[in-house]
Amino acid sequence: MTFSCLGIGVGSGPSIAIGPAHLLHQGRVEVVPGQVERDRIPDEVDRFRQALAGARRTLRAVRSRIPANTRSDILAFIDTHLLMLEDAALAEAPIERIREQGCTAEWALQQQCDALTGVFDAMEDPYLRTRKDDVEHVVNQIQKILLQQQEEETEAEELQGRIVLARDLTPADTILLHHQGIAGFVTESGGPMSHTAILARSLGIPAVLGVHHAARCFRQGEQLVVDGHQGVVLAAVDQDTLSHYQGRIQAARDHASSLRTLVGQPACTRDGRCLTLLANIELPEDIDTTRSLQADGVGLYRTEYLFMNRSRPPDEEEHFAAYARVVEGLDGLPITIRTLDLGADKPADGDHAGTCHNPALGLRAVRLCLKEPDLFIPQLRAILRVAALGPVRMMIPMLCSLQEVAAIRTLVAETRRSLRRDGVAFDPDLPIGGMIEVPAAALAADAFARELDFLSIGTNDLVQYTLAIDRVDDEVNYLYDPLHPSVLQLIQGVIDAGHRQGIPVSMCGEMAGDPDFIPLLVGMGLQELSMQPGALLEAKQAIRSLHAGELEQQVRSLMQRIHEPEAWSHLTRLCRSIH
Ligand code: PEP
Ligand code: MG
Repeated sequence: MTFSCLGIGVGSGPSIAIGPAHLLHQGRVEVVPGQVERDRIPDEVDRFRQALAGARRTLRAVRSRIPANTRSDILAFIDTHLLMLEDAALAEAPIERIREQGCTAEWALQQQCDALTGVFDAMEDPYLRTRKDDVEHVVNQIQKILLQQQEEETEAEELQGRIVLARDLTPADTILLHHQGIAGFVTESGGPMSHTAILARSLGIPAVLGVHHAARCFRQGEQLVVDGHQGVVLAAVDQDTLSHYQGRIQAARDHASSLRTLVGQPACTRDGRCLTLLANIELPEDIDTTRSLQADGVGLYRTEYLFMNRSRPPDEEEHFAAYARVVEGLDGLPITIRTLDLGADKPADGDHAGTCHNPALGLRAVRLCLKEPDLFIPQLRAILRVAALGPVRMMIPMLCSLQEVAAIRTLVAETRRSLRRDGVAFDPDLPIGGMIEVPAAALAADAFARELDFLSIGTNDLVQYTLAIDRVDDEVNYLYDPLHPSVLQLIQGVIDAGHRQGIPVSMCGEMAGDPDFIPLLVGMGLQELSMQPGALLEAKQAIRSLHAGELEQQVRSLMQRIHEPEAWSHLTRLCRSIH
């Protein structure tokens, strides 16, 4: 009888794999409090330093084995860990603890790890919050050396075509396993926002994370099916089930090659309504995919990465160099640079860390930029300067009052004057737009549209704030519903306001890249969608199958009665209509 386990699928790409299980034996690192004699403290410090050096050597060895053609954003995952091993928070602070408390190296390191991960836990941003995994991975490597629990490495041939089962995988493990030809992997811990999940998506490895007790559920060598889309792992499958999954693997391959034929084709509906499809990017390297898929440009360039893994915020030249690389790489395609969207937990202001009870409602994004102009002005100057090199727009996140728009415009005017005084080239007409992701702004969209050059709907936050559902809280995730009638009403209101005031409106939240929602968004009159690059071709395929005129009529009339259950369920059926 088929046996199944549930976890969190990482979705996207070739998400199904079939192969024999390979259990990675990873001992748990258990650290208990321990003291050393006072005269042994120097030896203990030395033991810690040697373990740290050992962890660095291991990671450098892993890095050197990664094939030269590996994308730089993938290598960056390992470089981040190497940087963490150099950081005083991991390299120096435990030594202070050993000296002050007279404790063992492993206990000092464990306390420091708990302190650091506590700070990450308090963060609102889901990406930054899961960076806690990175601290734990790095600390684990050092602990294993201190506790002499190094694992034997598995030969590459043994892993070819196998489904690896592991308690946890670091980004370095994931990259190496990929190069060793694994078919997929299953981990007991981790979530959809972990670096391991992001890497699996980016490398196209079918994977299911967070399958509790996976190592106890499956036997070494038994055939497994990993469905990374549904988050299911199956064992002891009968012939029919196996044929079903083999068919799905083949269908996915056929689908991927048929999607490739859409590169360069316009994103126009059957009745000739053409949409602009843009990419959301997080790192300058992402423009390679953006260009190879021939997106119409970048609709959301998240700039937070520039502020991460460092104790001081970037200066104007660093901002400028990063933006110039992207603008030049896009070779004339338009780009929307979003200004800093970190919360109270940002690295440049550690004082707030952990003290803010409700970070999603705290000092973040535009509020932070207005409160701390020293943090914001270098970014603003760099954006104004880089706009002289190509078609750049600047987008302000988390707007909720018109005073914020006025304050931003004042800062922009002052910054223009100072650039002029400095004799530096800049674009005096830089378009300034705003993200509509707070219900207060959505309700006042007409007023915002009069003051701004464009609007972009950030559904990830708009859903969170409209429904009072923390977007990173697993306990209430089942209630996070972009199709909630009130959310739809707000989205429609913003699109209509943009049309009334004659300014462009786009959507850059995850909703924009989900083919299920595209008939609805086309019917609502959206003409610009920005999404993660991997979703572009699927979205284009969906658009090309639709009739915009018919959808618009249907959606208009349903939206007038959207709070009636019948109209709402008709609309949700429309969302699944392209399958
Ligand atoms: C959003 O909120 O929809 C959005 C695109 O911004 P982020 O996910 O970066 O908060
Ligand atoms: Mg947002």
